[in-house]
Amino acid sequence: MTYVSSAVCIVCGHEIPPAADLTLCPRCGGLLDIHYDYRQARRHFTRELLAARTDASMWRYRELLPVAENFTPPPLRVGGTPLYDCPRLGAELGLKRLWVKDEGLNPTASMKDRASAMAVVKAVEGGYSQIACASTGNAASSLAGAAAAMGLRSYIFVPQRAPLGKIAQLLIFGAQVMRVQGDYQDAFRLSAQAISHWGWYNRNAAINPYMLEGKKTVAMEIAEQLQWQVPDWLAVSVGDGCTIAGVWKGFLDLYQCGLIHRLPKLLSVQAAGCCPINAAFSAGGPLIPQEENTLADSIAVGHPRNPDKALQAIAASQGAAVNVTDEEILAAMRLLGRLAGVFAEPAGAAAIAGLRKAVQNGIVSPQDTAVHIVTGNGLKDPANGIQAAGEPLDVPPDLEQLQKKLQA
Ligand SMILES: *Cc1c(COP(=O)(O)O)cnc(C)c1O
Ligand SMILES: [Zn+2]
Repeated sequence: MTYVSSAVCIVCGHEIPPAADLTLCPRCGGLLDIHYDYRQARRHFTRELLAARTDASMWRYRELLPVAENFTPPPLRVGGTPLYDCPRLGAELGLKRLWVKDEGLNPTASMKDRASAMAVVKAVEGGYSQIACASTGNAASSLAGAAAAMGLRSYIFVPQRAPLGKIAQLLIFGAQVMRVQGDYQDAFRLSAQAISHWGWYNRNAAINPYMLEGKKTVAMEIAEQLQWQVPDWLAVSVGDGCTIAGVWKGFLDLYQCGLIHRLPKLLSVQAAGCCPINAAFSAGGPLIPQEENTLADSIAVGHPRNPDKALQAIAASQGAAVNVTDEEILAAMRLLGRLAGVFAEPAGAAAIAGLRKAVQNGIVSPQDTAVHIVTGNGLKDPANGIQAAGEPLDVPPDLEQLQKKLQA
């Protein structure tokens, strides 16, 4: 039994049935939010129900996901990623306790797999055989992988700057890849035109309300892995804003069902060279698009399409916004690697830099507990990994010379 009830516009309140291929509000163009019957759900969706369940994937939360009762879960295993207790990294950041949720261990190595798994389920439910998106890279590679496993054709639009690791994934998964000569904004615009022209299923997270429902399962996993103890802070790197809004919805759902009794504060971390959502949050004003000047390609979103849910989530959580420079992001990649053994791509480490700054600025207290989400794996972007960590020691195959070099 799943408890999805309707889709409701967050701007005008218009309510419509939850069809498989929902996009924006037909009345005003606002974002839709998926609603559930929490009164019914809380009677069955309990800690005990989950404790007895062996499925470790994101579908273990299916009662609070927008899927039909008899849906077929996609073949790739998404979710069930580890949450690591990281005392040395926490101490380095000045925190009482820090956990790291490694979303880089999903099938295509980013948290986007949670949304893409949802996308292919909804596409099949709606009778589509073709699915498309525009992406800075990870949504694309995750969609291509999920579509390949599900037997769907994928059409992918990426900006010129997408890193090679992500392009290679797309091609290996057999996607039709369009590398658009321009930035993410250009790729997004072209994808929207092509999707309406050819009638493909639309996986763009700034439009399709189901993507956030997939992403919210990361929060449910975190809460369950912490035995339903909620941390003070959840640190998330932010591009389009769908991830942070999804994290918030996941905690809200658990709260509504009585599985947790408090909510975390959200720390929204953006790159100083591209921080339109944080700027709007701090100014309390409308979103003003910015240029995309950061090496963290996954959060280089100068013109977020629908920042409303993200801005509402940060505010509702009584959270905070922090911007970090590219140098701070590279330093955070080294810290995460050396003190926790986790290799993150730049956007996956950015929130570590954000947490450090938030402690220094007194936003986060040293007495606080925090969870950092590693949103993507470092192997996707080896060029920046090498830029963060430097070159190896070049040595001849000779022990004496090695001794000299190591002493130097
Ligand atoms: C997409 C992504 C983000 C940001 O998610 P948004 O929904 O765009 O805010 C952060 N890190 C990584 C690795 C991503 O792929
Ligand atoms: Zn509306």
